[in-house]
Amino acid sequence: IAKQVAPGSHVFFSQEMADEIQDRLRISNDLQQALANNELDLYFQPQQQVADNKPVGMEALLRWIPPGKKTIPPSVFIPVAEETSLICDIGNWVLQQACACFQRWQHSSLPLGNLSVNISARHFHSPDFIARLTVLMQQYPGCRHNLTLEVTEGVFLENLTESRSRMAHIKALGVNLSIDDFGTGYSSFAYLRELPVDELKLDRSFIQYIDQRPQDKAIIACLLDLARTLGMSVVAEGVETEQQLATLAELNCPAYQGYLRAHPMSEADLIAWLEKH
Ligand code: C2E
Ligand code: MG
Ligand code: MG
Ligand code: MG
Repeated sequence: IAKQVAPGSHVFFSQEMADEIQDRLRISNDLQQALANNELDLYFQPQQQVADNKPVGMEALLRWIPPGKKTIPPSVFIPVAEETSLICDIGNWVLQQACACFQRWQHSSLPLGNLSVNISARHFHSPDFIARLTVLMQQYPGCRHNLTLEVTEGVFLENLTESRSRMAHIKALGVNLSIDDFGTGYSSFAYLRELPVDELKLDRSFIQYIDQRPQDKAIIACLLDLARTLGMSVVAEGVETEQQLATLAELNCPAYQGYLRAHPMSEADLIAWLEKH
């Protein structure tokens, strides 16, 4: 193809693009191995009430820890996995693992609250998603009414009718739905009217400068109002400072998560953290 391109004009396949495709292929192959070799691990980040810091739940966050190497963050490997059905295998592993942990913790008297799990669009729309979730809820009945699936707005882009029927099935299983990174996607409010959404997670990009930018504070105030009116709960993401937390309290935001109080942590660390709270 490159030969047909006139000199000086852009070449369709640059070396950079070829390298990137190579990188992605390598990550994808390694990731498949990692799943088989138990190199994936779930971390958990606590969520707390804004008013009194009472724990209200935790979000499961995937980590890839190749033996003898540094942890690879999900921002590197999730987008690659999302290009193929590998994300479904990974997502099923995450769901299974998270529910097993949660049901195990229920034997303790720890203040668990609710367990949130991130679900990619491709996984959400995969043909056997509902059937698998049904089996999972039979296997881990303790997770019923305590499990929330976090999806981003992009999930509803493809097919609203299909999304609506999937979400109805999910709700019927006693599983809740949350919109992750709310406000950063395609933000048609139509789907909030159409879909049984339980929770909005306000994206970190709005929280980050809530005390510097009046616009950001106004947007958060407005989204909190919207959620209250529609009967949805809210979690503010990425709270890093006391000032941000104070502002969220002033705005009556119900819950938050962020480095201020807790980073994502291993299962053992989470249990120790919950015991202290
Ligand atoms: P997310 O679902 O929006 O998760 C929140 C991310 O923000 C996490 O990054 C978390 O560690 C980070 N975070 C939490 N508090 C703070 C804070 O105060 N400051 C800052 N700067 N960051 C904070 P992480 O764990 O690297 O995950 C990144 C993204 O990868 C997630 O964003 C989610 O989209 C995706 N992801 C993670 N685990 C899974 C998974 O099991 N399945 C799927 N499909 N996606 C996942
Ligand atoms: Mg999330
Ligand atoms: Mg998020
Ligand atoms: Mg995100």
